[in-house]
Amino acid sequence: MKLKHLYNLKLLNQEYFEGFDIKETDIKMPKNLEELQKVVLNCNLCNLAKTRTNVVFGEGNSNAKIMFIGEAPGRDEDLQGKPFVGRSGEVLTKMIENVLNLKREEVYIANIIKCRPPQNRDPEFSEVESCKNYILKQIEIINPTIIVTLGRIAFRYLLNDETPITKARGKLYDYKGIKVIPTFHPSYLLRNPTKKREAMIDLKFIKEFL
Ligand code: URA
Repeated sequence: MKLKHLYNLKLLNQEYFEGFDIKETDIKMPKNLEELQKVVLNCNLCNLAKTRTNVVFGEGNSNAKIMFIGEAPGRDEDLQGKPFVGRSGEVLTKMIENVLNLKREEVYIANIIKCRPPQNRDPEFSEVESCKNYILKQIEIINPTIIVTLGRIAFRYLLNDETPITKARGKLYDYKGIKVIPTFHPSYLLRNPTKKREAMIDLKFIKEFL
């Protein structure tokens, strides 16, 4: 079973220190989100698999122009198997519908890691390492015009950039030719409502590219 996962990760561009060749195998490269989802739902590559209720793969339009990437599922997301369905999800939905004037179903929403860290702690580096190829493959399949990273963790791990989110937010970055604009995480906005003004500026900037 583990070997199957290693094959799958290799197919998803995972690099190994000691290369191994895939010979005859019945495992095919996931070509679309449905195929990828099947792989991700069965993932046991890190310890979060032991404590999760559900894997939160991501949801939305597979042809979305805009993709939102959060950090990791929280309690509500873990229970429902869907991204951003709790209180921070309400904020995100308002940002999408009331400011960007899009329907939530028109965009794609996912997280850097697919399983909930216990007590919502920050994901560990090794957990992100195990999981990151899944979000990279989702980006490759969806090929959006713009990616909005939500909060420090998504920005840091997508772009390998340690710039604090307060400095990075609202600026234009590039990931393999795709525009990336970081903004605050919705849960940070819930805790710091005065930051909503800056988030609004970021959203207006994002809207210019849609
Ligand atoms: N926070 C996240 O980063 N992602 C979710 O899906 C929910 C809360």
